[in-house]
Amino acid sequence: MNLKEHVSSKVFDAVAEAGRSLNQPVYVIGGYVRDLILERGSKDADFVTLGSGIDLARKTADLLKVKKVNQYKNFGTAAFPYKGMDLEFVGARKENYDRKSRKPIVEEGTLEDDQNRRDFTINALAISLNEADFGEVIDPFNGLEDLKKKNIRTPLNPDITYSDDPLRMLRAIRFSTQLGFAIDSDSFNSIKKNAERISIVSKERIIDEVNKIVLCSKPSIGFKSLFSTGLLHYFFPELANLQGVEIRNGNSHKDNFYHTLEVLDNISVNTDQLYLRWAAIMHDIAKPATKRYREKLGWTFHGHEDKGARMVPGIFKNLKLPLDSNMKYVQKLVRLHLRPIALTKETITDAALRRLLFDAGNELEDLMTLCKADITSKNPVKVKKYLQRFQEVERKLKDVEQRDQIRNWEPPISGEVIMKTFGIGPSREVGIIKTCIKEAILEGDIPNNYPDACEYMIEKGKEIGLTVKVAPTT
Ligand code: ATP
Repeated sequence: MNLKEHVSSKVFDAVAEAGRSLNQPVYVIGGYVRDLILERGSKDADFVTLGSGIDLARKTADLLKVKKVNQYKNFGTAAFPYKGMDLEFVGARKENYDRKSRKPIVEEGTLEDDQNRRDFTINALAISLNEADFGEVIDPFNGLEDLKKKNIRTPLNPDITYSDDPLRMLRAIRFSTQLGFAIDSDSFNSIKKNAERISIVSKERIIDEVNKIVLCSKPSIGFKSLFSTGLLHYFFPELANLQGVEIRNGNSHKDNFYHTLEVLDNISVNTDQLYLRWAAIMHDIAKPATKRYREKLGWTFHGHEDKGARMVPGIFKNLKLPLDSNMKYVQKLVRLHLRPIALTKETITDAALRRLLFDAGNELEDLMTLCKADITSKNPVKVKKYLQRFQEVERKLKDVEQRDQIRNWEPPISGEVIMKTFGIGPSREVGIIKTCIKEAILEGDIPNNYPDACEYMIEKGKEIGLTVKVAPTT
């Protein structure tokens, strides 16, 4: 196969010319070639050369009039961005793995050595940028055929490939989910056999791949493979624990693992936001911990939303997901995920709607997206009915929001005003009065304005034994 026309742009011409002038053969290799043939479009291109990758990067940058080249001397690589593309340059190398660690011994090698160290046949394809055979695809492991057959296969014995760098097991699953490819059965069995070795891989590398699976259009494919190979149990046991159905007195509950995956697929149709997808993954995470069987009620999972929210920080920490506002966001959605369901009853009060608006704040729309994704009934009539109910809740919420503007609302009386009025310092009493005012407004007992709130504050202060020192100006 010759792909001359596809590698005849300013960038490739510059790399080819740089290689020529340095007398170093050059090839574009890996993901770029794979995606070119799959017509996926790729932003990154990796170049491999027989000689110094750093020299090749510098020469190419000169030709493209790029000033800054990032060099990684320890790895013998260099890279620079060019017109939205990330270009990376490396000298061809050979890798030998020490059985006990993940650190390979790296030495200079041929193009073939470099292709041998690649993870999959479809990632080992190279295109020559050299005069003699410009555009020719170099495919020592039948990667082209695997692309056609939609097959993920390792170039060498999979036991060696996966054991050398166990992250490749996750990469196999990631590529199969992203590209809709099957994992070759030898490879799949080898992943099962070597799954335990994932424990030597850093959490940061693992989560990078897992996030890529989460962001696929149908992430359940990846998670099912992670489960059936046993990998999931090593790095995210809480999710694996959701699997299983128990039957007592003829009563069963749904399999929460497969339910969660359905919710994840459902939400992925409506959002590409990584942490909203994580909220779907975590929404029922505490079901095993809260599961009870009660004679009259059957299976219950009382409080799984609160317990789940409390589990989120620990899981984020373990997975090396960020412990920042994204974690708080997931926690909030997990905690609130049942609330809109409670609002689908016909006799819902404005107070309940105001409470949800207040509690969900900016996350209200995302919460509704999660709740709709949580409908996994197989009966289309039921699905339609539940969706209509949620639409009705959304309409009511909009209505109350317009009337009361309670979302992202700050109660009208600050702690300062309370302290000044009663001549007290920061104390428990200030908190009690503030909560009373907030509750009264949310319940609709008093209107949402300053004078009414002041009056109420004085009343509540007196009730707990305080006296007014400075009357507030209203
Ligand atoms: P994507 O851009 O979607 O992540 P990619 O194939 O470009 O896909 P990279 O992680 O950028 O993935 O890696 C570039 C190339 O480096 C791969 O195509 C593969 O040839 C090689 N590679 C990356 N990681 C490994 C690994 N762990 N083991 C062996 N080869 C690898």
